[in-house]
Amino acid sequence: MRIAFSPTYRYQLPAKHRFPMDKYTLLPEQLLYEGTITEANFFSPEPLSEAAILRTHTADYWHKLKTNTLSRKEARAIGFPMRPELIARGRVIARGTLDCARHAFRDGVALNVAGGTHHSFADRGEGFCVFNDIAIAANELLHTGEITKAVVVDLDVHQGNGTAMIFADEPRVFTLSFHGAKNYPNRKPPSDLDVGFPDGTGDEAYLSRLYAVLPALLDREQPDLVFYLSGVDILATDKLGRLACTLQGCRERDRFVFQTCKDRGLPVAVSMGGGYSERLATIIEGHANTYRMADSVYG
Ligand SMILES: [Zn+2]
Repeated sequence: MRIAFSPTYRYQLPAKHRFPMDKYTLLPEQLLYEGTITEANFFSPEPLSEAAILRTHTADYWHKLKTNTLSRKEARAIGFPMRPELIARGRVIARGTLDCARHAFRDGVALNVAGGTHHSFADRGEGFCVFNDIAIAANELLHTGEITKAVVVDLDVHQGNGTAMIFADEPRVFTLSFHGAKNYPNRKPPSDLDVGFPDGTGDEAYLSRLYAVLPALLDREQPDLVFYLSGVDILATDKLGRLACTLQGCRERDRFVFQTCKDRGLPVAVSMGGGYSERLATIIEGHANTYRMADSVYG
């Protein structure tokens, strides 16, 4: 299985910033250390082309990003200090998701050690999201004719508002979002299917809903490709998420998504998504489980 990664994924933040940026280097180190993967699994994506950016994002938004001229308010909504490296990083990550989709056509699965930036809209970003990597990849593959239908399986605890808006009038992309009903974003533009869970939802209720929804949905929609957004902010230890899943439950979620797609011959491109547990080790363990399950189902 191929894994998209570049050292630029780790963006230098001020010391007290609440985003756990170190996960982007610690996760690959952990996976190498434990032997789940080797260096040969990695590829380093090129920056995404402007043409591909503009198939999803507005010319005005792209111009402001390129020239670092977002207003203070627009930058604050994103939540990272705006420097040219952040834009360069976003282009590489988005290309990583696109490349993962193409690798998945051949290998069944491919994973990006970043991405899942589902709070990015066509014309603006918010919630640590600049470009919408999955939307960009889906639009590009539809444009080239490599796919005719995709399903986005967004299991990050936050609702995929940007993705939902971007594909609101696009029947070729089905958007599914499982999320905490009371989690950010407050306003949730409708996905094709939204499943909002009450505070404190644990493994059993969460997983039984996944078992009930996902296989039937894939059988009905018959996509050529699945984008899986595997955020680990569903954990009870998460500082932002309001659900109460365990690491074991989160791992079972990942296993089930992979097995369900594999059983149907559906390629899966994985974008990492969020994770804000108190201990960085818990975040790494949660994300590492996604790779362990991919390896165990496809290996
Ligand atoms: Zn999230």
